[in-house]
Amino acid sequence: QISSAQQLIAREDALGAHNYKPLDVVLERASGAWVWDTEGRRYLDCLSAYSAVNQGHCHPRIIEALTDQAKKATLTSRAFRNDRLAGFYETAIRLLRYGAVIPMNTGAEAVETAIKLARKWAYEVRRVPIDQAEIIVMDGNFHGRTTTLVSFSSEAQYKDAFGPLTPGFVRVPYGDAAAIEAAITSNTAGVLFEPIQGEAGVIVPPEGFLRAMRDVCDRHGILMIADEIQTGLGRTGRWLACDHEGVRPDLVILGKALGGGVYPVSAVLSSRELMDLFRPGDHGSTFGGNPLAAAVAQASLEVLEDEGLPARALELGEYLRTRLRSMNSPHVRDIRGKGLLVGVELRGPARPACERLRDLGVLCKETHVTTMRLAPPLVISQKDLDWALERIEQVLTDP
Ligand code: PLP
Repeated sequence: QISSAQQLIAREDALGAHNYKPLDVVLERASGAWVWDTEGRRYLDCLSAYSAVNQGHCHPRIIEALTDQAKKATLTSRAFRNDRLAGFYETAIRLLRYGAVIPMNTGAEAVETAIKLARKWAYEVRRVPIDQAEIIVMDGNFHGRTTTLVSFSSEAQYKDAFGPLTPGFVRVPYGDAAAIEAAITSNTAGVLFEPIQGEAGVIVPPEGFLRAMRDVCDRHGILMIADEIQTGLGRTGRWLACDHEGVRPDLVILGKALGGGVYPVSAVLSSRELMDLFRPGDHGSTFGGNPLAAAVAQASLEVLEDEGLPARALELGEYLRTRLRSMNSPHVRDIRGKGLLVGVELRGPARPACERLRDLGVLCKETHVTTMRLAPPLVISQKDLDWALERIEQVLTDP
């Protein structure tokens, strides 16, 4: 007897690209921190779609914004104006304290947008000779999968078969402000970084790194460009992970939870002056800033604010790490993170532990082979977190 889940997996694998290696659990329903498979089994989601579902699955207020707007107008294109964009901009600017916004759809697109803006600034303001601009990036970075973004990855698999690669990037070790300073030349436009490297295995840089980087950028007059696609919007316990060190990047890139897990919305935020370097025709997107996206993004931001989710992530994250440490598991090499972005590095591959956890009703995914990333929706209750911790303890303390 082949189950319907097995049939769905076989049909999907027969027709689709095999560019992912998912855990074989076929989900059909989701609410808050919980998801259900096609057989009605319930799982606690400890991945949150790579932090895109910070507000919890199918948040009623975000779904209402989506459905209300979907009945009125969804896509008008930026050839015309729409009545939802201003409200989204105002909410983002009020909460994140920047001067201007450019809306896109996916994370990778928003990073590309920030790179274009930084390069334009280099040519028009810093007077870098044309086509010579350099952007400093970090070892272990993950900014998305476009040909330009994989060009400066340190992962062979991400780029080696996909050349020719885009020039103009210089890579330095992560967490080392002196290495950034040493890499600066008269052609440097800026430094692109993740405040915590998510895909690399939840790598937290040394305390003071962000402040030191801000200082280096100021002294050399180059742009500090934060990719907060995974770390932003409350995930690490603050609105932006850079807030932990009181640092204001010149450009902030948001994605994932900006769309509340229901619709792809990304954006770049900067000063008015910097954003004004983009002139009509310089950049754009058919779907970027559409009224459905704007309505969803505004609701997604308001939910984070009204439910105090950044503060909640800070508190529950501390609790989660304390509980994990107190397990004293012989299989664990390191426990790290900020807020509800937690990495549990094991002494061996993390995949078998993730598979066992799935069988016990907890969904998480290995990243970088040996690390389990625990990143539940920020709305998770302490009781549900305890439920997950009981199962995690079972797996981590198993001989
Ligand atoms: N930047 C960071 C830090 C990310 O974690 C991701 C996705 O995991 C991206 C960019 C790419 O976002 P998207 O998959 O929406 O293109």
